[in-house]
Amino acid sequence: MSRTFFEISRLEHVYRPTEERLKDYSEVEGQVLSDEVKRLASRCQNCGLPFCHAMGCPLKNAVPDFNRAVMQGNWHDAWERLSETSPFPEFTSRVCPALCEASCCLEGTGFGATNVRQIEKRIVDTAFAEGWVKPRTPKFRNGKSVAVIGAGPAGLAATVKLNESGWKVTLYDRNEKPGGLLRYGIPCFKLDKALIDRRWRLMEEAGIQFHGNTEIGKDVAGSYLMKHYDAVVVTYGTPVPRDLKVPGRELGGIFQALDLLGAMNRMNTKELSATTVSGKGKKVLVIGGGDTGNDCGGTVLRQGAVSVMSIDLMPKPPTERSEHTPWPMWPYQLRGSYAVDEGLERFWGLNTLRFIGENGQVTGAEVVPVKWEFAANGKPAKFAVAGPARVIPCDLVVLAMGFLRQKREEVLAALGLPDQENVLIAGDAANGPSLVVRAIADGLKCATTLC
Ligand SMILES: Cc1cc2nc3c(=O)[nH]c(=O)nc-3n(C[C@H](O)[C@H](O)[C@H](O)COP(=O)(O)OP(=O)(O)OC[C@H]3O[C@@H](n4cnc5c(N)ncnc54)[C@H](O)[C@@H]3O)c2cc1C
Repeated sequence: MSRTFFEISRLEHVYRPTEERLKDYSEVEGQVLSDEVKRLASRCQNCGLPFCHAMGCPLKNAVPDFNRAVMQGNWHDAWERLSETSPFPEFTSRVCPALCEASCCLEGTGFGATNVRQIEKRIVDTAFAEGWVKPRTPKFRNGKSVAVIGAGPAGLAATVKLNESGWKVTLYDRNEKPGGLLRYGIPCFKLDKALIDRRWRLMEEAGIQFHGNTEIGKDVAGSYLMKHYDAVVVTYGTPVPRDLKVPGRELGGIFQALDLLGAMNRMNTKELSATTVSGKGKKVLVIGGGDTGNDCGGTVLRQGAVSVMSIDLMPKPPTERSEHTPWPMWPYQLRGSYAVDEGLERFWGLNTLRFIGENGQVTGAEVVPVKWEFAANGKPAKFAVAGPARVIPCDLVVLAMGFLRQKREEVLAALGLPDQENVLIAGDAANGPSLVVRAIADGLKCATTLC
């Protein structure tokens, strides 16, 4: 068992300086050099019961194994171990909240968890630089064909696995390019879209076909897919955003988060010449204090917003791990955010009553503070008004309140598909809004049931 964690500290700060990164849309995280990563990997205890692998990581990445290989400088071995379980570590190593780190045996000891995500990132970046990442081509074709609806991480993962197993896979997406929320949701400064293009080239080389700009249920009927393919896999995410139906919602200047984020990403990758939603020169109010809200904050700050604040109906999470989510569970607690460091102000326990406007444009949001009561399991249960209403002045409102989970029958009805065995649903479409790593794991699992 390694005991270097006594001497070597966890790496806490990997971000580029705020004043530098606010001027561009390049990834906010800086590079951690190989020698430093080897030192970080040596902090892994190779514990007898690695919760990171067994419980933390939905992909069941063999974290202690690749940590040991990295510590010994065996980068190729580390890559082989990582790529056995993870089809797209270049994505997860940039956007995953690292469930593995929350369940690391060093977490909560005062020494700080092993920096698994940074180690994963250096392994996959090295693998690409060394030319070790190859198309995953099938050894034989099984004569069967499958249509995958939705080219987000779940669809991409299912596609890779099915293609490798001999299925002829055709991937459909209503967007022009593959990636789903990796491409049109998560900002470029968290995930460089060139990494999706690079991965997609390998998938094309492996024989996968993509039909972009094709909305199933509109441009192509579900019945057409049922007629022409042996199976259909639905990975179309959660297409319906939660709305805020309060008076004044119809005013100009109120947008959904993906209107802002999608347009900005398209502009950054030259799919659009100008963005259709901008915070430039505006007082921006983001409604929703989660990751999407943070991404909206980071985006409008780069666009040149005068100010940006986010408000959330829910109570402020505790600064320490809640007693209801003990180690090795994923902790309910307040998390730092790159966007807060950049200037986003966050507030909790505020309910939005209505939007106020002039000449058809939003000029403010009336909010009221609320106090929450908690259930026995620690979850916020109900709230009551706890003070006078006030108006927050703003001229751009971004709704970042999540997406609606659909039932299986709603998904099938939306796409005109029958409820039968050869129609599978995976990723956010099956489980509701979640994480990239869970979507990938579910896409793989779904593909395995067909293989
Ligand atoms: C702004 C934002 C930031 C996020 N940041 C993170 C993060 O940092 N880390 C993290 O782990 N998770 C993050 N998430 C969550 C993560 O992106 C999702 O959980 C994940 O992308 C879900 O993958 P999926 O493949 O199930 O669906 P999606 O990524 O939503 O992909 C679904 C695809 O289906 C397509 N589609 C929809 N309807 C049709 C149709 N009728 N016909 C054809 N195609 C269709 C869509 O165009 C889309 O490309 C974030 C989410 C958002 C919104």
